[in-house]
Amino acid sequence: MINVKNRLKCSGCSACMNICPHDAISMKPDKEGFIYPVIDKNKCINCNKCIRVCPYNNEWEPPHDMQKCIVGYNLNPDEREAGSSGAIFSLLAMQTLEDGGVVFGAAYDKDFMVFHSKAETPEQLKSLIGSKYLQSRIETSYRQVQEYLQNNRKVLFVGTTCQIAGLKGYLRKDYDQLLCVDFVCLGIPSPLVWKDYLVTYFPGETIIHVNFKSKSRGWHTFSLAIDTDKQHFSKDGKSTFFFSGYFKGLYSRPCCSDCIFKNNKNRISDITLSDSWGCEEFAAEMDDNKGLSNIIIHNDKGDKAFLSIKNKICYKQVEFEKIIEGNKNYYYSLPMGSRRDEFWSEYDGSEKKVLFRKYCSSNYGIKKVYRTIKLSLKGLFRKRKYDCF
Ligand SMILES: Cc1cc2nc3c(=O)[nH]c(=O)nc-3n(C[C@H](O)[C@H](O)[C@H](O)COP(=O)(O)OP(=O)(O)OC[C@H]3O[C@@H](n4cnc5c(N)ncnc54)[C@H](O)[C@@H]3O)c2cc1C
Repeated sequence: MINVKNRLKCSGCSACMNICPHDAISMKPDKEGFIYPVIDKNKCINCNKCIRVCPYNNEWEPPHDMQKCIVGYNLNPDEREAGSSGAIFSLLAMQTLEDGGVVFGAAYDKDFMVFHSKAETPEQLKSLIGSKYLQSRIETSYRQVQEYLQNNRKVLFVGTTCQIAGLKGYLRKDYDQLLCVDFVCLGIPSPLVWKDYLVTYFPGETIIHVNFKSKSRGWHTFSLAIDTDKQHFSKDGKSTFFFSGYFKGLYSRPCCSDCIFKNNKNRISDITLSDSWGCEEFAAEMDDNKGLSNIIIHNDKGDKAFLSIKNKICYKQVEFEKIIEGNKNYYYSLPMGSRRDEFWSEYDGSEKKVLFRKYCSSNYGIKKVYRTIKLSLKGLFRKRKYDCF
């Protein structure tokens, strides 16, 4: 039976829980709020299926050479506004629905924690759009995906690379009608810290809506926007305590500090999406601060999916090396911060306002002034030359 001794070697993907034929595994949060498998020994029959499906017990050699890299954005302005970068996900998702398929992605639950949910209609799809900076609980999604695939339905599954590895480990078989899309991921922050952040700064208020990457100040300066029954809160994301502590490596999941799923140029997914950070160097003429995506296509299946939506995108092809120059998180894992242990040792006994101020303050204001001057100077020399397809 699975036994996580080293927390660096479990991403919480839940493949073990999904495969267990006796439902002997449940995913329970540890003291940092991250879920890990817990075995009910009375139910376990020692079949070891859980060990076999675990992505940490398998070699993940990406099977294909990379096909191509695209930089682009969704031509529909409303959809583009709603997406975290260029809103490419919503196009892939709509295409899946039009083909009679099902889309799996991350949605908020009633407490604004995150779980994997499915959409079979454009209305249901709305809840899956946008980046949620928390670990999404997979629950029984892999079982559901398998059922749809066995019934010959198309499935689009979007998640972190470790979740895609979990799904593939669970399925143990390639399905033509399954499209897997991951994204460049800097790590997954603790759901417990998020819960306490909300309770601390919005006490007694009912949360109505959260947007971790609102574009109200533009895409480059993403904002954390929270609507409650009493206020509309919106602040430059990088200067909030929540994101600042995340960037300092204080509370990402331990395994994210050395992510084994992003060691390769090619990925286990069919397509990887990301923000097109650094686009001023290779697609400045497409950057109107409304959101631009990198679409990294790993294989024929990914290419076919891209071709099916390309007439709804303004795009151009770019070399992989150029994209990666601006978005090093493709390979890079954010190490655990030097104050991570200290932060967690004080966590339980501290007043959270004091704790957040002590550890999560940001010096982002100074960096932002420098960046604004740099971008304005570049804008003066920018030429517009690109085609919309
Ligand atoms: C935790 C996290 C860290 C990220 N880090 C980076 C980064 O360092 N660099 C970078 O370039 N891009 C990063 N991204 C990706 C980026 O924010 C966009 O999600 C991506 O570019 C796709 O944008 P879009 O506009 O096409 O689609 P969107 O509409 O934004 O779609 C995002 C998709 O991801 C799914 N999703 C959202 N949150 C989660 C979650 N917590 N777990 C699993 N699936 C989720 C949604 O269901 C949706 O399918 C990160 C995203 C997340 C969630």
